[in-house]
Amino acid sequence: MQLVGKLLCLHLRSKMKTINRQCFCCAGKEGAVYPLGYHFIAGVGEVDMTIRICARCGSVLQDPAPTPQMMNRYYTNYSNYTNVSRGGQPDSSYTGAVKRQINIIKKFLKPGIVFEVGCATGFMLSKLKKDNWIVTGCDPSFAASAVAKNTYNIDIER
Ligand SMILES: [Zn+2]
Repeated sequence: MQLVGKLLCLHLRSKMKTINRQCFCCAGKEGAVYPLGYHFIAGVGEVDMTIRICARCGSVLQDPAPTPQMMNRYYTNYSNYTNVSRGGQPDSSYTGAVKRQINIIKKFLKPGIVFEVGCATGFMLSKLKKDNWIVTGCDPSFAASAVAKNTYNIDIER
């Protein structure tokens, strides 16, 4: 299994290229660069990861970014977030994080309409829905979107 993964890595490393990106917040292209080394990403292979801290606004981003093809391959085939062993339910560290995030949201916003980008199985949306938010989200994972629909009755855009 490990050998197959390694061969897959070598194969994919030669084909997948990364692209440079602008800061999501301010479109800046300058900033301190911190190499993280090679990391194995299922379905993508070994990726030489580097983060950059935007010199203009301080945002942290992966740069160069994975290509849309790499992201699509990972999220549609390997990143399923389905938590099968827990019946689709997230672990306590995630549920605690979501509870803290919702408490922050409640401090500043009244229930309205929310769209969560990268909502995985829709757990956070399910909690907001119980608090009378109108919820929807998007996620490239077919499996995670199915959990959102079947477990929380939330339709996820793909
Ligand atoms: Zn920036």
